[in-house]
Amino acid sequence: MPIRVVILGAGFGGLELSTRLAEELADEVRVTLIDQADSFVFGFSKLDVMFGRRTFEEVHLHYRDIAKPNVEFRQEKVTAIDAERRRVVTDKGTHEADILVVALGADLDVEATPGLAECGHEFYSPEGAAGVRDTLARIDGGDIVIGVLGGFFKCPPAPYETAFMLHDLLTRRGVRQACTITLLTPMPKPIPISDEVSDAILRLCDEREIQYSHGTWVDGLDPERRVVQLRDGRALPFDLFLAVPVHRAPPVVVESGLTDDGWIAVDPATFATKFPDVYAVGDITSAPVPRAGVIAEGEASTLADVLVAKVKGGPPAPPFAGDIVCYVEMGNQTIGKVNVNFLSGPAPIALFTPPSMEGADEKRQFAAVRRLRWFGKD
Ligand SMILES: Cc1cc2nc3c(=O)[nH]c(=O)nc-3n(C[C@H](O)[C@H](O)[C@H](O)COP(=O)(O)OP(=O)(O)OC[C@H]3O[C@@H](n4cnc5c(N)ncnc54)[C@H](O)[C@@H]3O)c2cc1C
Repeated sequence: MPIRVVILGAGFGGLELSTRLAEELADEVRVTLIDQADSFVFGFSKLDVMFGRRTFEEVHLHYRDIAKPNVEFRQEKVTAIDAERRRVVTDKGTHEADILVVALGADLDVEATPGLAECGHEFYSPEGAAGVRDTLARIDGGDIVIGVLGGFFKCPPAPYETAFMLHDLLTRRGVRQACTITLLTPMPKPIPISDEVSDAILRLCDEREIQYSHGTWVDGLDPERRVVQLRDGRALPFDLFLAVPVHRAPPVVVESGLTDDGWIAVDPATFATKFPDVYAVGDITSAPVPRAGVIAEGEASTLADVLVAKVKGGPPAPPFAGDIVCYVEMGNQTIGKVNVNFLSGPAPIALFTPPSMEGADEKRQFAAVRRLRWFGKD
Protein backbone atom coordinates (compact mmCIF):
# COMPACT_ATOMS: atom_id res chain seq x y z
CA MET A 1 0.00 0.00 0.00
CA PRO A 2 1.45 3.40 -0.91
CA ILE A 3 1.90 5.90 1.91
CA ARG A 4 -0.92 8.45 1.89
CA VAL A 5 0.48 12.00 1.90
CA VAL A 6 -2.13 14.73 2.14
CA ILE A 7 -0.89 18.28 1.42
CA LEU A 8 -3.19 21.14 2.40
CA GLY A 9 -2.60 24.23 0.26
CA ALA A 10 -1.26 24.37 -3.31
CA GLY A 11 0.80 27.55 -3.07
CA PHE A 12 4.59 27.83 -3.34
CA GLY A 13 5.03 25.26 -0.54
CA GLY A 14 2.43 22.69 -1.60
CA LEU A 15 3.34 22.86 -5.30
CA GLU A 16 7.05 22.36 -4.71
CA LEU A 17 6.54 19.54 -2.21
CA SER A 18 4.08 17.62 -4.41
CA THR A 19 6.41 18.02 -7.41
CA ARG A 20 9.42 16.69 -5.48
CA LEU A 21 7.43 13.74 -4.10
CA ALA A 22 6.18 12.89 -7.59
CA GLU A 23 9.76 13.01 -8.87
CA GLU A 24 11.34 10.99 -6.09
CA LEU A 25 8.72 8.83 -4.40
CA ALA A 26 6.22 8.08 -7.18
CA ASP A 27 6.20 4.35 -6.33
CA GLU A 28 6.07 4.76 -2.58
CA VAL A 29 3.51 7.51 -1.94
CA ARG A 30 0.11 8.67 -3.13
CA VAL A 31 -0.21 12.44 -2.84
CA THR A 32 -3.50 14.27 -2.45
CA LEU A 33 -3.02 18.01 -2.96
CA ILE A 34 -5.97 20.09 -1.72
CA ASP A 35 -6.73 23.76 -2.36
CA GLN A 36 -9.94 25.76 -2.27
CA ALA A 37 -8.92 27.69 -5.38
CA ASP A 38 -8.87 26.40 -8.96
CA SER A 39 -5.59 28.14 -9.79
CA PHE A 40 -2.31 29.54 -8.46
CA VAL A 41 -1.11 33.13 -8.83
CA PHE A 42 2.49 34.21 -8.15
CA GLY A 43 2.53 36.95 -5.48
CA PHE A 44 4.35 39.35 -7.81
CA SER A 45 1.77 38.79 -10.57
CA LYS A 46 -0.71 40.65 -8.38
CA LEU A 47 1.36 43.80 -8.86
CA ASP A 48 1.43 43.16 -12.63
CA VAL A 49 -2.38 43.04 -12.57
CA MET A 50 -2.67 46.12 -10.35
CA PHE A 51 -0.52 48.20 -12.68
CA GLY A 52 -2.18 46.95 -15.85
CA ARG A 53 0.78 44.97 -17.23
CA ARG A 54 -1.24 41.75 -17.36
CA THR A 55 -4.87 40.83 -17.01
CA PHE A 56 -6.43 38.99 -14.08
CA GLU A 57 -7.06 35.96 -16.35
CA GLU A 58 -3.50 35.89 -17.75
CA VAL A 59 -1.79 35.39 -14.38
CA HIS A 60 -3.81 32.36 -13.22
CA LEU A 61 -2.11 28.97 -13.51
CA HIS A 62 -4.80 26.30 -13.40
CA TYR A 63 -4.39 23.32 -11.10
CA ARG A 64 -6.18 21.15 -13.67
CA ASP A 65 -2.91 21.31 -15.67
CA ILE A 66 -0.96 19.46 -12.98
CA ALA A 67 -0.12 16.07 -14.45
CA LYS A 68 2.26 14.23 -12.13
CA PRO A 69 2.52 10.55 -11.28
CA ASN A 70 0.68 9.82 -8.06
CA VAL A 71 -0.46 13.40 -7.41
CA GLU A 72 -4.18 14.03 -7.34
CA PHE A 73 -5.34 17.64 -7.09
CA ARG A 74 -8.68 18.25 -5.41
CA GLN A 75 -10.41 21.62 -5.35
CA GLU A 76 -11.94 21.53 -1.86
CA LYS A 77 -12.15 23.88 1.10
CA VAL A 78 -10.60 22.48 4.27
CA THR A 79 -13.14 22.90 7.09
CA ALA A 80 -11.55 20.87 9.91
CA ILE A 81 -8.15 19.30 10.68
CA ASP A 82 -7.82 16.55 13.29
CA ALA A 83 -4.04 16.72 13.71
CA GLU A 84 -3.90 13.86 16.19
CA ARG A 85 -5.61 11.42 13.83
CA ARG A 86 -4.33 13.11 10.63
CA ARG A 87 -7.86 13.35 9.34
CA VAL A 88 -9.00 16.30 7.22
CA VAL A 89 -12.59 17.29 6.58
CA THR A 90 -13.42 19.41 3.55
CA ASP A 91 -16.62 20.74 2.00
CA LYS A 92 -16.60 17.64 -0.21
CA GLY A 93 -15.47 14.78 2.05
CA THR A 94 -12.87 13.36 4.44
CA HIS A 95 -9.21 12.53 3.82
CA GLU A 96 -7.13 10.20 6.00
CA ALA A 97 -3.36 10.72 5.89
CA ASP A 98 -0.30 8.78 6.97
CA ILE A 99 1.66 12.00 6.53
CA LEU A 100 -0.14 15.33 6.71
CA VAL A 101 1.43 18.60 5.52
CA VAL A 102 -0.14 21.98 6.26
CA ALA A 103 0.85 24.65 3.72
CA LEU A 104 -2.24 26.86 3.94
CA GLY A 105 -0.36 30.18 3.92
CA ALA A 106 -1.56 33.36 5.64
CA ASP A 107 -5.06 34.87 5.36
CA LEU A 108 -5.66 38.60 4.95
CA ASP A 109 -7.70 40.10 7.80
CA VAL A 110 -9.28 43.27 6.37
CA GLU A 111 -11.70 43.52 9.32
CA ALA A 112 -8.80 43.83 11.78
CA THR A 113 -8.34 47.49 10.75
CA PRO A 114 -11.36 49.70 11.46
CA GLY A 115 -12.52 51.60 8.38
CA LEU A 116 -10.41 49.64 5.88
CA ALA A 117 -13.32 47.75 4.33
CA GLU A 118 -15.31 51.00 4.01
CA CYS A 119 -12.75 53.35 2.51
CA GLY A 120 -9.47 51.54 1.72
CA HIS A 121 -8.31 49.00 -0.84
CA GLU A 122 -6.26 45.90 -0.09
CA PHE A 123 -4.01 44.87 -2.98
CA TYR A 124 -2.58 41.60 -1.62
CA SER A 125 -5.25 39.29 -3.11
CA PRO A 126 -5.68 38.84 -6.89
CA GLU A 127 -9.21 40.30 -6.64
CA GLY A 128 -8.01 43.25 -4.56
CA ALA A 129 -5.18 44.01 -7.00
CA ALA A 130 -7.57 43.90 -9.97
CA GLY A 131 -9.96 46.28 -8.16
CA VAL A 132 -7.18 48.81 -7.49
CA ARG A 133 -6.17 48.71 -11.18
CA ASP A 134 -9.51 50.21 -12.16
CA THR A 135 -9.22 52.90 -9.46
CA LEU A 136 -5.68 53.83 -10.56
CA ALA A 137 -6.81 54.15 -14.16
CA ARG A 138 -9.17 56.96 -13.10
CA ILE A 139 -7.18 58.85 -10.47
CA ASP A 140 -6.05 62.32 -11.54
CA GLY A 141 -4.69 63.74 -8.29
CA GLY A 142 -4.71 63.55 -4.49
CA ASP A 143 -2.94 61.99 -1.55
CA ILE A 144 -2.17 58.30 -1.99
CA VAL A 145 -1.12 56.37 1.10
CA ILE A 146 0.33 52.85 1.05
CA GLY A 147 -0.11 51.37 4.52
CA VAL A 148 1.39 48.21 6.00
CA LEU A 149 -1.06 47.33 8.78
CA GLY A 150 0.67 44.48 10.61
CA GLY A 151 4.21 43.66 11.69
CA PHE A 152 4.25 40.33 9.89
CA PHE A 153 3.48 40.34 6.16
CA LYS A 154 4.27 38.59 2.89
CA CYS A 155 7.20 39.84 0.84
CA PRO A 156 8.76 42.75 2.80
CA PRO A 157 9.84 44.63 -0.39
CA ALA A 158 6.33 44.56 -1.93
CA PRO A 159 5.06 47.88 -0.44
CA TYR A 160 8.13 49.69 -1.86
CA GLU A 161 7.76 47.93 -5.22
CA THR A 162 4.17 49.18 -5.18
CA ALA A 163 5.32 52.75 -4.51
CA PHE A 164 7.85 52.66 -7.39
CA MET A 165 5.36 51.16 -9.83
CA LEU A 166 2.74 53.68 -8.73
CA HIS A 167 5.19 56.54 -9.34
CA ASP A 168 5.87 55.20 -12.86
CA LEU A 169 2.18 54.76 -13.64
CA LEU A 170 1.21 58.24 -12.44
CA THR A 171 4.17 59.74 -14.34
CA ARG A 172 3.11 57.94 -17.55
CA ARG A 173 -0.43 59.24 -17.07
CA GLY A 174 0.89 62.79 -16.55
CA VAL A 175 -0.66 63.17 -13.08
CA ARG A 176 2.33 62.48 -10.81
CA GLN A 177 2.73 66.17 -9.86
CA ALA A 178 -0.92 66.25 -8.79
CA CYS A 179 -0.41 63.33 -6.38
CA THR A 180 1.54 62.64 -3.22
CA ILE A 181 2.70 59.11 -2.39
CA THR A 182 3.34 58.22 1.27
CA LEU A 183 4.32 54.82 2.63
CA LEU A 184 3.55 53.94 6.27
CA THR A 185 5.01 50.84 7.89
CA PRO A 186 5.69 49.51 11.37
CA MET A 187 9.02 48.09 10.12
CA PRO A 188 12.11 50.04 11.25
CA LYS A 189 13.52 50.10 7.69
CA PRO A 190 12.65 48.50 4.32
CA ILE A 191 14.73 45.33 4.69
CA PRO A 192 15.79 45.09 8.36
CA ILE A 193 18.55 42.54 7.71
CA SER A 194 20.35 44.74 5.16
CA ASP A 195 21.29 48.39 5.47
CA GLU A 196 22.70 48.31 1.92
CA VAL A 197 19.38 47.22 0.36
CA SER A 198 17.37 49.47 2.70
CA ASP A 199 19.52 52.51 1.78
CA ALA A 200 19.17 51.75 -1.95
CA ILE A 201 15.39 51.55 -1.60
CA LEU A 202 15.18 54.77 0.43
CA ARG A 203 17.42 56.59 -2.08
CA LEU A 204 15.02 55.62 -4.86
CA CYS A 205 12.09 56.83 -2.74
CA ASP A 206 13.83 60.19 -2.17
CA GLU A 207 14.63 60.61 -5.88
CA ARG A 208 10.95 60.02 -6.69
CA GLU A 209 9.61 62.20 -3.86
CA ILE A 210 7.94 59.19 -2.27
CA GLN A 211 7.48 59.99 1.42
CA TYR A 212 7.85 57.28 4.05
CA SER A 213 7.39 56.83 7.76
CA HIS A 214 8.91 53.78 9.45
CA GLY A 215 8.00 52.47 12.91
CA THR A 216 4.49 53.76 12.23
CA TRP A 217 1.38 51.84 13.25
CA VAL A 218 -2.04 52.54 11.75
CA ASP A 219 -4.95 52.27 14.19
CA GLY A 220 -7.68 52.71 11.58
CA LEU A 221 -9.19 54.78 8.78
CA ASP A 222 -11.88 57.37 9.37
CA PRO A 223 -14.30 57.12 6.42
CA GLU A 224 -15.95 60.48 7.18
CA ARG A 225 -12.88 62.65 7.69
CA ARG A 226 -10.87 60.51 5.24
CA VAL A 227 -7.83 60.43 7.50
CA VAL A 228 -5.52 57.63 8.55
CA GLN A 229 -5.49 57.50 12.34
CA LEU A 230 -1.97 56.71 13.55
CA ARG A 231 -1.12 55.14 16.90
CA ASP A 232 1.15 58.09 17.77
CA GLY A 233 -1.89 60.40 17.67
CA ARG A 234 -1.31 61.91 14.22
CA ALA A 235 -4.04 61.92 11.56
CA LEU A 236 -2.98 61.82 7.92
CA PRO A 237 -5.38 62.82 5.12
CA PHE A 238 -5.80 60.45 2.18
CA ASP A 239 -7.72 60.25 -1.07
CA LEU A 240 -6.68 56.68 -1.86
CA PHE A 241 -5.49 54.18 0.76
CA LEU A 242 -3.73 51.04 -0.49
CA ALA A 243 -3.40 48.43 2.23
CA VAL A 244 -1.23 45.50 3.10
CA PRO A 245 -3.78 44.07 5.55
CA VAL A 246 -3.08 42.35 8.86
CA HIS A 247 -2.15 38.70 8.23
CA ARG A 248 -3.39 35.76 10.28
CA ALA A 249 -3.42 31.96 10.08
CA PRO A 250 -6.53 30.57 8.36
CA PRO A 251 -9.16 29.97 11.11
CA VAL A 252 -9.32 26.23 10.32
CA VAL A 253 -5.66 25.93 11.33
CA VAL A 254 -6.13 27.88 14.56
CA GLU A 255 -9.17 25.76 15.46
CA SER A 256 -7.16 22.56 14.91
CA GLY A 257 -4.87 23.32 17.87
CA LEU A 258 -1.81 23.34 15.60
CA THR A 259 -0.93 26.98 16.31
CA ASP A 260 0.80 28.60 19.28
CA ASP A 261 0.86 32.41 19.31
CA GLY A 262 -1.10 32.48 16.06
CA TRP A 263 1.18 30.41 13.79
CA ILE A 264 2.44 26.82 13.62
CA ALA A 265 5.70 26.18 15.45
CA VAL A 266 7.96 23.74 13.57
CA ASP A 267 11.26 22.00 14.16
CA PRO A 268 13.50 24.10 11.87
CA ALA A 269 15.45 21.02 10.74
CA THR A 270 12.49 18.83 9.75
CA PHE A 271 9.38 21.09 9.68
CA ALA A 272 7.69 18.64 12.05
CA THR A 273 4.90 20.11 14.19
CA LYS A 274 4.05 19.03 17.73
CA PHE A 275 1.82 16.27 16.28
CA PRO A 276 3.49 13.05 14.99
CA ASP A 277 3.71 12.85 11.17
CA VAL A 278 2.18 16.29 10.77
CA TYR A 279 4.43 18.87 9.09
CA ALA A 280 4.03 22.52 8.10
CA VAL A 281 5.85 24.80 5.65
CA GLY A 282 5.57 28.35 4.34
CA ASP A 283 3.75 31.42 5.58
CA ILE A 284 1.69 29.41 8.08
CA THR A 285 4.73 28.63 10.26
CA SER A 286 6.41 30.77 12.89
CA ALA A 287 9.90 29.95 11.51
CA PRO A 288 12.27 32.92 12.04
CA VAL A 289 12.35 33.93 8.37
CA PRO A 290 10.34 36.43 6.30
CA ARG A 291 7.08 35.39 4.66
CA ALA A 292 8.01 34.78 1.02
CA GLY A 293 7.33 32.31 -1.77
CA VAL A 294 10.99 31.47 -2.19
CA ILE A 295 11.20 30.66 1.53
CA ALA A 296 8.06 28.47 1.39
CA GLU A 297 9.53 26.69 -1.63
CA GLY A 298 12.92 26.17 0.07
CA GLU A 299 11.23 24.80 3.19
CA ALA A 300 9.10 22.45 1.06
CA SER A 301 12.21 21.22 -0.69
CA THR A 302 13.88 20.47 2.64
CA LEU A 303 10.72 18.71 3.82
CA ALA A 304 10.83 16.62 0.63
CA ASP A 305 14.40 15.59 1.57
CA VAL A 306 13.17 14.70 5.08
CA LEU A 307 10.32 12.56 3.70
CA VAL A 308 12.49 10.85 1.08
CA ALA A 309 15.00 9.92 3.83
CA LYS A 310 12.13 8.72 6.03
CA VAL A 311 10.60 6.53 3.32
CA LYS A 312 13.73 5.24 1.60
CA GLY A 313 16.11 5.30 4.56
CA GLY A 314 19.51 6.96 4.43
CA PRO A 315 21.16 9.79 6.35
CA PRO A 316 19.03 12.62 7.74
CA ALA A 317 18.44 15.51 5.33
CA PRO A 318 20.55 18.66 5.89
CA PRO A 319 18.52 21.48 7.47
CA PHE A 320 17.07 24.36 5.43
CA ALA A 321 19.81 26.98 5.06
CA GLY A 322 17.48 29.86 4.31
CA ASP A 323 19.47 30.53 1.15
CA ILE A 324 17.22 32.48 -1.22
CA VAL A 325 17.14 34.99 -4.06
CA CYS A 326 14.68 37.84 -3.82
CA TYR A 327 13.84 40.04 -6.84
CA VAL A 328 12.80 43.63 -6.16
CA GLU A 329 10.97 45.87 -8.68
CA MET A 330 12.73 49.22 -8.46
CA GLY A 331 10.93 51.25 -11.11
CA ASN A 332 11.17 51.72 -14.89
CA GLN A 333 10.71 47.94 -15.18
CA THR A 334 14.16 47.30 -13.67
CA ILE A 335 14.71 44.65 -11.02
CA GLY A 336 17.27 44.54 -8.21
CA LYS A 337 18.33 41.27 -6.67
CA VAL A 338 19.05 40.31 -3.07
CA ASN A 339 20.84 37.04 -2.31
CA VAL A 340 20.12 36.23 1.31
CA ASN A 341 21.28 33.52 3.63
CA PHE A 342 19.16 33.64 6.77
CA LEU A 343 20.09 30.62 8.78
CA SER A 344 23.64 29.40 8.07
CA GLY A 345 25.57 31.87 10.22
CA PRO A 346 25.05 33.80 13.47
CA ALA A 347 23.25 36.59 11.54
CA PRO A 348 21.62 36.77 8.09
CA ILE A 349 23.86 37.77 5.19
CA ALA A 350 22.50 39.77 2.23
CA LEU A 351 24.19 40.61 -1.07
CA PHE A 352 22.61 43.30 -3.23
CA THR A 353 22.73 43.53 -7.04
CA PRO A 354 21.49 46.96 -8.21
CA PRO A 355 18.41 47.17 -10.47
CA SER A 356 18.81 46.39 -14.17
CA MET A 357 16.96 45.03 -17.19
CA GLU A 358 19.01 41.81 -16.81
CA GLY A 359 17.44 41.46 -13.35
CA ALA A 360 14.02 41.71 -15.00
CA ASP A 361 14.97 38.91 -17.43
CA GLU A 362 16.16 36.76 -14.55
CA LYS A 363 12.87 37.23 -12.68
CA ARG A 364 10.89 36.27 -15.80
CA GLN A 365 13.04 33.17 -16.01
CA PHE A 366 12.35 32.42 -12.32
CA ALA A 367 8.61 32.38 -13.06
CA ALA A 368 8.99 30.40 -16.31
CA VAL A 369 10.97 27.63 -14.60
CA ARG A 370 8.25 27.18 -11.97
CA ARG A 371 5.42 27.34 -14.52
CA LEU A 372 7.06 24.49 -16.39
CA ARG A 373 8.06 22.46 -13.35
CA TRP A 374 4.76 22.72 -11.47
CA PHE A 375 2.22 23.03 -14.30
CA GLY A 376 4.02 21.71 -17.41
CA LYS A 377 3.39 25.11 -19.07
CA ASP A 378 5.83 26.96 -21.32
C1 LIG B 1 1.89 41.50 -3.77
C2 LIG B 1 2.76 40.34 -3.40
C3 LIG B 1 4.00 40.20 -3.98
C4 LIG B 1 4.84 39.14 -3.62
N1 LIG B 1 6.04 39.00 -4.24
C5 LIG B 1 6.84 37.96 -3.91
C6 LIG B 1 8.11 37.78 -4.56
O1 LIG B 1 8.48 38.55 -5.44
N2 LIG B 1 8.86 36.72 -4.18
C7 LIG B 1 8.47 35.84 -3.21
O2 LIG B 1 9.20 34.91 -2.92
N3 LIG B 1 7.30 35.99 -2.57
C8 LIG B 1 6.47 37.01 -2.90
N4 LIG B 1 5.26 37.16 -2.27
C9 LIG B 1 4.92 36.29 -1.13
C10 LIG B 1 4.42 34.91 -1.54
O3 LIG B 1 3.34 35.01 -2.45
C11 LIG B 1 3.97 34.12 -0.31
O4 LIG B 1 4.90 34.26 0.73
C12 LIG B 1 3.86 32.63 -0.69
O5 LIG B 1 2.81 32.47 -1.61
C13 LIG B 1 3.67 31.73 0.52
O6 LIG B 1 3.58 30.40 0.08
P1 LIG B 1 2.73 29.33 0.92
O7 LIG B 1 2.83 28.05 0.17
O8 LIG B 1 3.12 29.34 2.34
O9 LIG B 1 1.24 29.90 0.90
P2 LIG B 1 0.35 30.34 -0.33
O10 LIG B 1 1.13 30.45 -1.57
O11 LIG B 1 -0.41 31.53 0.15
O12 LIG B 1 -0.66 29.11 -0.51
C14 LIG B 1 -1.62 28.77 0.45
C15 LIG B 1 -2.77 28.09 -0.26
O13 LIG B 1 -3.69 27.59 0.72
C16 LIG B 1 -4.99 27.73 0.21
N5 LIG B 1 -5.94 27.72 1.33
C17 LIG B 1 -6.00 28.59 2.38
N6 LIG B 1 -7.00 28.23 3.21
C18 LIG B 1 -7.60 27.13 2.67
C19 LIG B 1 -8.66 26.27 3.07
N7 LIG B 1 -9.35 26.48 4.19
N8 LIG B 1 -8.97 25.22 2.28
C20 LIG B 1 -8.28 24.97 1.12
N9 LIG B 1 -7.27 25.75 0.70
C21 LIG B 1 -6.92 26.81 1.46
C22 LIG B 1 -4.97 29.04 -0.56
O14 LIG B 1 -5.97 29.05 -1.56
C23 LIG B 1 -3.57 29.03 -1.15
O15 LIG B 1 -3.54 28.56 -2.50
C24 LIG B 1 4.39 38.19 -2.64
C25 LIG B 1 3.13 38.31 -2.08
C26 LIG B 1 2.30 39.37 -2.45
C27 LIG B 1 0.93 39.46 -1.85
